[in-house]
Amino acid sequence: MNSCETSYKVIQSRIRAAAAQRNHPVDLLAVSKTRATADMCALAALGQRAFGENYVQEALAKQRVLADLSLEWHLIGPLQSNKSRDTARHFDWLQTLDRPKLVEPLNRFRETATPLKVLIQVNIDDEASKSGCAPDRIDALADVVAAAPRLTLRGLMAIPAPHPDFDRRRRAFARMREQFDRLRQNYPGADTLSMGMSEDFELAIAEGATMVRVGSALFEPRPR
Ligand SMILES: *Cc1c(COP(=O)(O)O)cnc(C)c1O
Repeated sequence: MNSCETSYKVIQSRIRAAAAQRNHPVDLLAVSKTRATADMCALAALGQRAFGENYVQEALAKQRVLADLSLEWHLIGPLQSNKSRDTARHFDWLQTLDRPKLVEPLNRFRETATPLKVLIQVNIDDEASKSGCAPDRIDALADVVAAAPRLTLRGLMAIPAPHPDFDRRRRAFARMREQFDRLRQNYPGADTLSMGMSEDFELAIAEGATMVRVGSALFEPRPR
C-alpha cells in the first residue's frame, strides 16, 4: 500500500470504530484545500467521493481537471456574496451558510434539477473573529432556507475553537448536538451534523457528528 492508501484506510477504520459506539454511520469529507488534483485523484481511486474546498476559485479550477470523476463538492470556507452565483452553480453542498441575505441569490442562481444541500454554520464558541450565526438565530435562518425551493436544509456545521483543552472542545460539540436535536424537531429532514477535523474527529463522533471533515490526517504534509 502507498502512504495515501494507508492513511485513508486508517482514517476510515478510526471513523468506523467511533461510529460503531454511536450506532449510526458517519460520512468522511476529504478536505482538499491547497492539495494537488493528483492527490485528490488518488483518493478518488480508493473510493472517496466527497471533497471539501475553502475557496470557490480553487474549487472551480479543480472541478475542470477532475470533471470525469463525478465527485461531490462541498464549500466549507466562508461564503462571500459575490461568490453566491458560482457556489449555487458548481457545488453540491454549502456548509457555511450564516446569514439570510445569501439565500435569495443562491436560490436564484441554482439552475440544476437537484437542490443545493445547505448546512447552517453555527458560531458555537461565540468567537468574534469567526463566521457562523449565533445559536439563537438558527431557527430564523432555517425557516428562510426551508422556504427556498432550490435549497435543501440538511443540518448544521461548526468549527469549534481549537482549544488545547479537549474537554472544552467536547462541550462545544455537545452544545452543537443539542442545537441539532432541536432543529430536527422542526425539520426532520435535517440529517447532517458536520463537526470534527483531523485532531478531534473521534471526539466529535462521540458527541454525535454525522460528518467529519478531515484534511491533514488524510493527505501528505503540505509542501513548505
Ligand atoms: C481545513 C479545514 C478542515 C480540515 O482541517 P484538518 O485539521 O486539516 O483536518 C475542516 N474544516 C474546515 C472548515 C477547514 O477549513
